[in-house]
Amino acid sequence: MGDLKVRLAAPLQPDSIVDGEGIRTVIWFQGCSHDCPGCHNPESHDFNGGFEARVKDIEEEIENLEYQDGITFSGGDPMFQPEALLELLKAVHRNKLDSWVYTGFTYEQILKMSEEKPIYKEILENIDVLVDGRFEMAKKSFEVMFRGSTNQRVIDVPASLKSNEVVLVEKYIWRV
Ligand code: SF4
Repeated sequence: MGDLKVRLAAPLQPDSIVDGEGIRTVIWFQGCSHDCPGCHNPESHDFNGGFEARVKDIEEEIENLEYQDGITFSGGDPMFQPEALLELLKAVHRNKLDSWVYTGFTYEQILKMSEEKPIYKEILENIDVLVDGRFEMAKKSFEVMFRGSTNQRVIDVPASLKSNEVVLVEKYIWRV
């Protein structure tokens, strides 16, 4: 695993309060092919853009973070680099932080993908909160928390896996 690489769009960004609950460090993955019209981050689409880093080095950065509640994986879409994502998710939990992942895939699509590629099941098992689905311009809203459009969902992944149905994080459905 020592040589595993990850392609990132930007250096780790600590102290965010808009990318999930609490004070969080964001890891911006490079590469996304969902091509949502109105995407907030089009520079992150190119799979050859950004820069390459060793997963081991990012794990070390996670270990050395201070005063953070958790790590948020965003992009781009982290699901396009499943091996690196899984290793980093494990590092997050080893360091007693929580994990949020933003993806253009839906929870159901990821489950389906896991039938052919079991790594996606393992990824889900290491995510605390998944913000799922493509950004849809027609459903853009400032009334929803931690996401851009109303079709996207803030999902409690452990509860969803346990009950075999999507369980939303109730407190984050609407901005109050
Ligand atoms: S999934 Fe996210 S990064 Fe990818 S095109 Fe859609 S909004 Fe942009």
